[in-house]
Amino acid sequence: MKISAIKVFVCNPGRNFVTVKVITDEGIYGIGDATLNGREMAVVTCLEEHIIPCLIGRDPHAIEDIWQYLYRGVYWRKGPVNMAAIAAIDMALWDIKGKAANLPVYQLLGGKSRTGVTLYAHASGSSIEDTLDKAEALQQQGFKAIRLQSAIPGLNVTYGVLGDKKDYFELQGNRPLPPEETWSTQKYFSMIEDLFKRGRQRLGNHIHLLHDVHSRLTPIEAARLGKLLEPYHLLFLEDAAIAENQASYEVIRQHTTVPLAIGETYNSIWECKDLIENQLIDYIRTAATHAGGITALRRITDFASIHNVKTAPHGAPDLSPVCFAAHMHINIWAPNFGIQEFVGFGNDKLNDVFSHNFSVSNGMATMTDAPGLGVDFDEEAAAKYPYKRSYLPVSRLEDGTAWHW
Ligand SMILES: [Mg+2]
Repeated sequence: MKISAIKVFVCNPGRNFVTVKVITDEGIYGIGDATLNGREMAVVTCLEEHIIPCLIGRDPHAIEDIWQYLYRGVYWRKGPVNMAAIAAIDMALWDIKGKAANLPVYQLLGGKSRTGVTLYAHASGSSIEDTLDKAEALQQQGFKAIRLQSAIPGLNVTYGVLGDKKDYFELQGNRPLPPEETWSTQKYFSMIEDLFKRGRQRLGNHIHLLHDVHSRLTPIEAARLGKLLEPYHLLFLEDAAIAENQASYEVIRQHTTVPLAIGETYNSIWECKDLIENQLIDYIRTAATHAGGITALRRITDFASIHNVKTAPHGAPDLSPVCFAAHMHINIWAPNFGIQEFVGFGNDKLNDVFSHNFSVSNGMATMTDAPGLGVDFDEEAAAKYPYKRSYLPVSRLEDGTAWHW
């Protein structure tokens, strides 16, 4: 079998998605997700100009060699653009291998370690009351883990809380430039404990609660938050502070027993190596699309397992169902799987473009035994939803200082 062509598609059925289709001379094709929000077209150019010409005529079964060729074989390693491009090719090759073997990808990884994948859903409200109303509705649907986020009184917009805006296009006033948000640690601290205190009172002690700080705190502030939230026994506190300097998590760890999770923006095992090796985190949140595909995520998963770190893959709405499928196969296999973030696939336009074989019931995701990844991409449907330049918001402190997003 040889790779005969590779096509790249960009579409916007609600969000921008970059999708790769690797086609073989035997008629089998594979699908991969290469979406890098706010830099989508950079990945398209990387693929079309620099990567695809090197792959035509190669054996698609040589997944590891192709991964190493694209990673080690270039002078400029890593980086989000390059790793998203490698990731999409890698996912598509695993899809091809599964289809050729007539087996789902999880069987190629080692088979099932569990019957279903536990999900955590998002409850994000314009007030604590609104957040808890949404959380209660999710609890009634059967979700056993819920992330609580609430708007912060005194701030114009809060991360993850769109209020009456339906998406980030609306938030940016339909201008294709980044919207801006204001951050105040002081105002955040005046709200956050109440959210979890009232959350536990209303939702009970059996449900897992989670929270995403989105890197807005310094390490010592994150340590303070961890201590403050200990009585509400969170499953984990996500992105409590930036860990570009991985040693900074030692500060948080010294002060609190709240479980810590990080990694959704990481592009390789090297960005989480010290955090995992020194057991400074409890959950690693790397995504197949951004950390180099199934091959790379499998390696991170195994490395994490020997340091008692569980996996909790990123599951934001800018990761396509192809990435979610890749996570499903890894999650079903991984002995140290923790939990999968899930925001739903209810959008009709999205379902018009992508078809998949997983279903959600009682807060758990399961899938059929379709060979490969079990997803497909409709090129004609995608053509109906053209790319729109789009950004996530930029965050500033109240005095105008640019801050972490
Ligand atoms: Mg997050």
